[in-house]
Amino acid sequence: MLADKQPPSTIDISTARLRRLEISCSKTLSTGQHGFSERLRHLTLRLQTSLELDRLLEFFFEEVSNLTPLQALSYCHSGTDFQLQIGEANGFDVSYSLSHSGDCLGELRLFSSNYVPDSVLEQLENALDCLLFPLRNALLYRQAVQASLKDSLTGAGNRTAMVQALSRETELSRRHCQPMSIIMLDMDHFKRLNDIYGHQAGDAALKATALLLREQLRNVDMVFRFGGEEFVLVLSNSGPQAAAVVAERIRAAVQNLCFLVGDQQVRLSASLGCATYQPCESQDDLLHRADQALYQAKKEGRNRTRMASL
Ligand code: GH3
Ligand code: MG
Ligand code: MG
Repeated sequence: MLADKQPPSTIDISTARLRRLEISCSKTLSTGQHGFSERLRHLTLRLQTSLELDRLLEFFFEEVSNLTPLQALSYCHSGTDFQLQIGEANGFDVSYSLSHSGDCLGELRLFSSNYVPDSVLEQLENALDCLLFPLRNALLYRQAVQASLKDSLTGAGNRTAMVQALSRETELSRRHCQPMSIIMLDMDHFKRLNDIYGHQAGDAALKATALLLREQLRNVDMVFRFGGEEFVLVLSNSGPQAAAVVAERIRAAVQNLCFLVGDQQVRLSASLGCATYQPCESQDDLLHRADQALYQAKKEGRNRTRMASL
């Protein structure tokens, strides 16, 4: 009979493998029968279980802490804008510039409260060898994820990234009762710019505008290319007044941008619509209100900012 059937048992392979490794590790510690090479094997297997940089480095830190008591690990990779610190960075430290076939794999520092003798350093370096390939794969994975969320022309976030960011920010805004606003920006008479100066000049204008937007915003704010010559800015922890100030600053900066086509200076301008998130409204509703405010700015003559109504 169907009702008597056992539910299917599902085994998560990574969890199962880790559990087995933990058991073998605790045996290693208690019996002391396995030596350094057993630890390296354990480390290698563990490093195969994740493509997330922070998980890999946590595993590495835990495993090498078995070789010598470590205070902290710090790692940074500027190419993917990744930084991590585990523990408090003080005491003796050893630094490694990691690379593979000419590719920079980041800077790693290990901190110990005690002096690390050469014999242990050698072991640490053998452990680092085990880290290199998993680290390279995790960096490639991170680069691929980052690229999939970026607009290739302007370097701004793309539409997918915007949807993700808005989901996160609206949730945070609801949970912490903090204001959150968006600005929708559309370049004025952009078709004319393309027609007069060519599509390449139009592309350059979009790049220059995206750069200007990043320069004008705080680190916590985000810039996305919404479509052709439209951008959406997400301002966390900002109410309508703050959004209006930012929008006006950006409008003025676009107008004053020194954009050159050859040696000719070309004037740019943009219209902007601001909307502040209302608890319980959908992402689409919020975008729609900002779009309506932008439409109003266009209708009233362009090169201006308008606020959305509720
Ligand atoms: P308005 O002030 O009403 O916004 O006028 P507009 O000309 O900016 O608006 P319209 O929607 O008529 O035209 C938008 C133009 O933006 C047309 C399109 O060719 C151009 N555009 C969209 N994406 C790109 C792009 O990636 N590169 C370039 N060069 N142009 C683009
Ligand atoms: Mg336009
Ligand atoms: Mg447009």
